[in-house]
Amino acid sequence: MFKTILIANRGEIACRVMKTARRLGIRTVAVHSDADRNALHVEMADEAVAIGPAPASQSYLSVERILEACRVTGAEAVHPGYGFLSENAAFARALDAAGIVFIGPPAAAIEAMGDKIESKRFADRAGVSTVPGHLGVIADAEEALRIAGEIGYPVMIKASAGGGGKGMRIARSPREVADGLQLARSEARSSFGDDRVFIEKFIEEPRHIEIQVLADKHGNVLHLLERECSIQRRNQKVIEEAPSAFLDQHTRAAMGAQAVALARAVGYESAGTVEFIVDRDRNFYFLEMNTRLQVEHPVTELVTGIDLVEQMIRIAAGEPLTIRQQEVMPRGWAIEARVYAEDPYRNFLPSIGRLTHYRPPAERRENGVTVRNDTGVYEGAEISMFYDPMIAKLCTHAPTRDAATDAMADALDAFTLDGIRHNIPFLSALVGHPRWREGRLSTAFIAEEYPDGFQGVAASEEQDHTFVLIAAAIEIEERRRRNGMRDRLAPAGPLRQKWTVALGRRPFPILVEDAGNGTLKVAVDGAAPVEVAAGWRPGERIWRGRIGGADVVAQVARRGTIVEITRRGRTVAARLLNPTVGDLAQIMPEKAPPDTSRVLLCPMPGLVVSIAVAEGQTVEPGEALATVEAMKMENILRAEREVVVKAIRARPGESLAVDSVIMEFE
Ligand code: ADP
Ligand code: ADP
Ligand code: MG
Repeated sequence: MFKTILIANRGEIACRVMKTARRLGIRTVAVHSDADRNALHVEMADEAVAIGPAPASQSYLSVERILEACRVTGAEAVHPGYGFLSENAAFARALDAAGIVFIGPPAAAIEAMGDKIESKRFADRAGVSTVPGHLGVIADAEEALRIAGEIGYPVMIKASAGGGGKGMRIARSPREVADGLQLARSEARSSFGDDRVFIEKFIEEPRHIEIQVLADKHGNVLHLLERECSIQRRNQKVIEEAPSAFLDQHTRAAMGAQAVALARAVGYESAGTVEFIVDRDRNFYFLEMNTRLQVEHPVTELVTGIDLVEQMIRIAAGEPLTIRQQEVMPRGWAIEARVYAEDPYRNFLPSIGRLTHYRPPAERRENGVTVRNDTGVYEGAEISMFYDPMIAKLCTHAPTRDAATDAMADALDAFTLDGIRHNIPFLSALVGHPRWREGRLSTAFIAEEYPDGFQGVAASEEQDHTFVLIAAAIEIEERRRRNGMRDRLAPAGPLRQKWTVALGRRPFPILVEDAGNGTLKVAVDGAAPVEVAAGWRPGERIWRGRIGGADVVAQVARRGTIVEITRRGRTVAARLLNPTVGDLAQIMPEKAPPDTSRVLLCPMPGLVVSIAVAEGQTVEPGEALATVEAMKMENILRAEREVVVKAIRARPGESLAVDSVIMEFE
């Protein structure tokens, strides 16, 4: 076994790998850029080496600097994590040449699977079912149109070098082919420096289900069942689970067998993932093989009890697999939610800044429920613009899918962070969605359920009552503490009071009774009284209590006379009022939003790529006005109605802040 390994990555995955290495008694070396000098992975490692400035191209992607770091620290092996150099065959070869072990597959397997066109050809030959399409590079729009016509619409135009959901566009009709080709290409060029694209059939409403494989250097190959990753936004995974609610034994076994066959055919070693899309009739098609540890590997670890990083290290050290296929059994259900520094209310704009407050739910294993949180940050850490905006991967595991979902909803409710915008409300909305509960998923889920973006979770009567009960309990506890001295001297008589709790502008009359032992009986809006008890103290961010016999978690923040309560993806501003004031709350005027119909605003911070119109021009609805690049995606901004361009305020090449005016209309 190795004595020292170097982790050529940052963030949560570097920390994750170190955890296992440490458990195996292996010394760990971190590498870091200047921006990561104080990062968690640096702190966790036994030794750390600075490898260059913040941009990844000059640090985490520098093969030379990482080799040098291995030399000075005597690292015998390198774990690449995911992203960065993890699927870079030249890196694996360079390590090999330097006599250092790459904790991953052979370079030849990375190469064979690294290119989508090549890997599809390879899979096809290995007897794996692939998405129908054309296995060649598309030369121009004319050829694209011809091939799309042959395949039949809708089609997907895809970058051969693609990854991370980038460089792919759907064309539903010939009209969309030229635009789609151009966008897929230019995105591929800017993200991967390679603009080759191909075309395949777009499978309607598919599910993304992938098979985890493990292979050693002795010819043993097995699979560790499936993960379902159908909850995606722009082809990027947001929530994953294992097992999949959709697979039957027969399909599972068939997919597993094909994944193993493909791994054998490429001479695979280490952990890898074979991704499939599965249509409504459970026909499955190979998408690609990821020759690395996958972001969502924790759900597999939770249901199989197998530490994938440990297996990768043992395999790299030459040990044979000791697990047998028939021993791999799923136990319970696991869910992972990716917590990102992005604002769900503003089209998921990445958010950067200091995490002034960071308290994830406690990792624990209790009553059959496990909570795991893989993270690379800490309170006070900086989320920089240089890297991926992922903050943490929150996972829960329980005996059933329902119980794992409940645990996830609670864990998200107990996750508090400030200083940056984050997607926790959106994650809460997703796991609280009836379609998630029913397991009626597809990769189109988010686009279908949130067609105009995320506007927050809609109010429901039941949820409102829960908010009212929490607000009442908080207010009464605060009042009691303020009057603490007096209470102790002369115990207050039984409390029985009429109040009003306003949630925003809506008043809820309540009747509160003190039931003793710190329990209140609260009747909302004339309904039957409900018992509310909590150990909450003023100032605490998390309110944990029992309402009508059920455990309830919520986040609370005091803002003057208002208490802000967050739960299940919704935040309400609550106030305790006397009844007459409560009636007034609903007649307070609301501020009208500004009129933005006469301007084109930049919907995200981005770079103006081009302006498609001239001043004085009349533009039809749907016509392109400008193209803005943000997060390596090109976005065409179109006219929503017929407009006449009055003035153009932005120039190509200009970087704009969100809501900057690009042009004005008459
Ligand atoms: P998967 O197929 O494993 O789910 P994704 O494509 O969703 O992977 O995400 C992998 C991407 O994560 C990489 O392509 C890269 O952009 C990004 N990434 C790389 N390194 C890190 C890191 N240390 N922390 C967070 N994200 C990273
Ligand atoms: P990446 O390398 O970016 O992960 P993939 O080929 O794995 O690219 O595709 C990512 C996601 O895009 C899939 O999970 C799926 O949701 C969607 N997708 C890709 N190809 C197709 C297709 N032919 N039909 C329908 N959806 C697809
Ligand atoms: Mg993929």
